[in-house]
Amino acid sequence: MISARKALQQLRDGNRRFVAERQRDGRTGATRREEVTERQEPFAIILGCSDSRVPAEIVFDQGLGDLFVIRVAGNIVAPSQIGSVEFAAERFGTRLVVVMGHTQCGAIEAAIEAITSTHGPASRNQRSIVNRVRPTIESLVTTELAKDPVRLRREAMRANVRASVNHLRHGSEVIERLSDEGGLAVVGAELDLMTGEVIFFDGVVD
Ligand SMILES: [Zn+2]
Repeated sequence: MISARKALQQLRDGNRRFVAERQRDGRTGATRREEVTERQEPFAIILGCSDSRVPAEIVFDQGLGDLFVIRVAGNIVAPSQIGSVEFAAERFGTRLVVVMGHTQCGAIEAAIEAITSTHGPASRNQRSIVNRVRPTIESLVTTELAKDPVRLRREAMRANVRASVNHLRHGSEVIERLSDEGGLAVVGAELDLMTGEVIFFDGVVD
């Protein structure tokens, strides 16, 4: 484990490099930084998990100002996530929203545990995340899938992404209006940690 002091130092060092390396790749370098300081026009909104292995900008090879990213454990949809999507779609005209789940997701694991062991996390705050995942995957745990833990986790992750997509599509008048009239699309996706590959569930977007 890295101590808090050491961790803070690593962040400081990293930021110093970020500021100093003017020759850094174009999308994350000083020129791009100056370009997007006054104005941003992100081309996609990504709702992803907080997991340290799934940073959207790296996974999609994008730079500053390209993606409007919302990250929360289990890529769940609560009012603040909906509000963030609305904000970017209205302010910046972003028309693609991607909900991205991933393999080996701790939040999915915690939700399965809560169902199978009949007691969830002790913390009310952590329960609020698990409880958003749980109803969607509860039925899966009682099927044949339960015998195959790897597949169960993958299908639970997919079901959770689909639930988040549905919630975004239908849980907001703003998003619904922009979808009907403004060409906004909400799609689900999954990232395989091992290969790094992202597969989109709804392939075709008009
Ligand atoms: Zn996760």
